[in-house]
Amino acid sequence: MPRTVVHCRTLQDIQLAIVAARSAGLSLSVRGGGHDWAGRALCDGLVLDLSDMKDIVVSPDRCSARVAGGARASDVLALTDPLGLAAVTGSCSAVGMAGLTLGGGYGPLIGRFGLALDNLISADVVLADGRIVTAERGREEDLFWALRGGGGNFGVVTAMHVRLHELPNVVSGVLVYPFSEAKTVLRRYADAASSMPDELTVQIGAVAGPDGMPVILLVPTWCGAQGRGDAHIAPLLELGTLLDNTVDAVRYGASLSVFDAHIVNGQRTFMETCWLRSLGEGGAEVLVEAMTKAVSAGCAIFTHEFRGASSHIPVQATAFGLRHDHVLLEIFASFPDRSDRLEERRHQRWVRDTRRAFDKIALPGGYPNLLGTGETDRATESFGPNVERLVRVKQHYDPDNVFCSAIPMPLGRSAIAAE
Ligand SMILES: Cc1cc2nc3c(=O)[nH]c(=O)nc-3n(C[C@H](O)[C@H](O)[C@H](O)COP(=O)(O)OP(=O)(O)OC[C@H]3O[C@@H](n4cnc5c(N)ncnc54)[C@H](O)[C@@H]3O)c2cc1C
Repeated sequence: MPRTVVHCRTLQDIQLAIVAARSAGLSLSVRGGGHDWAGRALCDGLVLDLSDMKDIVVSPDRCSARVAGGARASDVLALTDPLGLAAVTGSCSAVGMAGLTLGGGYGPLIGRFGLALDNLISADVVLADGRIVTAERGREEDLFWALRGGGGNFGVVTAMHVRLHELPNVVSGVLVYPFSEAKTVLRRYADAASSMPDELTVQIGAVAGPDGMPVILLVPTWCGAQGRGDAHIAPLLELGTLLDNTVDAVRYGASLSVFDAHIVNGQRTFMETCWLRSLGEGGAEVLVEAMTKAVSAGCAIFTHEFRGASSHIPVQATAFGLRHDHVLLEIFASFPDRSDRLEERRHQRWVRDTRRAFDKIALPGGYPNLLGTGETDRATESFGPNVERLVRVKQHYDPDNVFCSAIPMPLGRSAIAAE
């Protein structure tokens, strides 16, 4: 429960809010789209709320857009869809562009265009000392590097300049397979995935179907040349007994509505995450076993792919620490807000046990945007060879750790002293 929420509309509002929090000794958090699972956008001190800062301007050459710090993906796509353009977003349009981009940004366009952060051209930032800077190649270069993976640890991003791509439509939709065939479907998919073109990404979900029993969803998105998508998606229609198929040519923004039904406001949610090399090597079996132990229809596992363009970028080029092909797992359990402690514990235990079941085959760390507040050790592993530089940049730009309500990061000496 924050002490105060400041609805900022200008850079000066943000500067004053930072000064006010610091001089009153209040903790401070930044709220962009408000979609962080761990609720880091809300601290018990001063919340700097950017939800009134949503302006988006497409450049005259259609190659980029200026996106204000509180805009969600849906705000950007409402403007770019009718123009036949797309920004790189996550797979759910309600997520904030700044939080997504600063921490990574896995999404359906990743194979062709990389992470959302790979499409960041520059960022305007209000720093802890109130200075306003622009970080880009050749200017505040360390900050620009750290913003691409280090999350909101360095300042308030008031606007981002992001790359846009010509994309009149994508071929996307949902394929539904019965859970009884889950192992076969997932194994066949893992085999097929190794030869899929970069323009095709597939998100997998193990979720409750309409009758509450689990089903396997595949959500392919083809973002390559028009007319070629169906042929590449065709093998995915033959992984088992197909129960439903909604794949069609749609605007990119429209394709992101498929998960809306699984994102219900007012629910409580536990979330755990890990990275796997692939769903092969036993991953499919662990996933299926975990879903058979689901404690309610609110338990689900989703994957995000990381490959193609995102894997071709050298690991030290941005702060994001894992630059080879992998699969990100989101393990979550949601349940009604008024549930008792028993329900809460049952769901929490399922999420934890499921993540632990993947331990043997998981890569070190996990997607920092999805790690919990206390998971500093895992975040340190996630940043891999970039961790020391990241800590140095944090010490330079935010030595007093004003922006501590962000992705967990190992603190340098001066920040520890300030705590
Ligand atoms: C339903 C759902 C679907 C998701 N899908 C995806 C997905 O497909 N791909 C993916 O990669 N991730 C996904 N995520 C994770 C998401 O990227 C992160 O939770 C992200 O932090 C959300 O950004 P936000 O601005 O909405 O968050 P907020 O809750 O507003 O903020 C979270 C943190 O981000 C930082 N932050 C936000 N805005 C700013 C700003 N303007 N300046 C400085 N710091 C800022 C702050 O540190 C803040 O504490 C999803 C999350 C949810 C809840």
